Amino acid sequence: MIVLKKVTKQYAAVTAVRNVDLSIPPGSIFGIIGKSGAGKSTLLRVMSLLEPHNGGEVFYGQDRVDHLKGKELLSRRRKMGMIFQNFNLLGSRNVAANISFPLEIAGSHKKDIHARVEELLELVDIQDKHKARLHELSGGQKQRVAIARALAANPEVLFCDEATSSLDPQTTRSILALIRDLHKKLKLTVVLVTHQMEVIQEICEEVAVLENGELAEQGPVKSVFNNPRTEAARRLLYA
Ligand code: ADP
Repeated sequence: MIVLKKVTKQYAAVTAVRNVDLSIPPGSIFGIIGKSGAGKSTLLRVMSLLEPHNGGEVFYGQDRVDHLKGKELLSRRRKMGMIFQNFNLLGSRNVAANISFPLEIAGSHKKDIHARVEELLELVDIQDKHKARLHELSGGQKQRVAIARALAANPEVLFCDEATSSLDPQTTRSILALIRDLHKKLKLTVVLVTHQMEVIQEICEEVAVLENGELAEQGPVKSVFNNPRTEAARRLLYA
């Protein structure tokens, strides 16, 4: 269970996230939806320990993790993978070398890296792209590379920041199907930030609605979408 208690994040005069309480069940596919600027990415960066907050607490299970530093922070971060809208791949490296990058940094042996990369390529179904350069790939294939890289160190949680927002509808569906498969196969918890309702409907079990940095409501997708309790959720869903 990932639990946020009264988390606040401020950038100069902007309060990007304000007093957010959130619980994400282990093994779920959890969506965070809101308009552009609602604070979704900020919340994800705080939750994934990429950025410090200005108040509140973050727990993974019983462990408080938001004050971790140095080696402890690194080892906690190894249990998380992250993918982004713009893929964040390294243009100077081919597909296999992008996927192997986190393993190289972690100091894994060459032979182990090679075997793991093959396994990951198969997992995301781009076995034949091993040596391809990034400019030879479609957006969907690039996101598959990014997913393989994010899973390289066997994380427990996959964070997805608008991961399908630059893809066409058909490719979006195939990437969401892949994420759903991986969630089942690897028992991954998936936390997904998006402004697209159809993404939440397609793949998520639970959803949290964020507006102006505040949590409006959280619940099962069907009940929030069919019967929103708050004005903020109604505004977002029916605007
Ligand atoms: P969303 O992901 O929902 O679009 P963000 O978390 O990116 O929202 O942004 C929330 C608010 O915080 C916005 O007003 C944005 O301009 C501001 N913000 C986000 N990141 C930074 C930053 N690094 N520096 C200053 N302001 C930021």
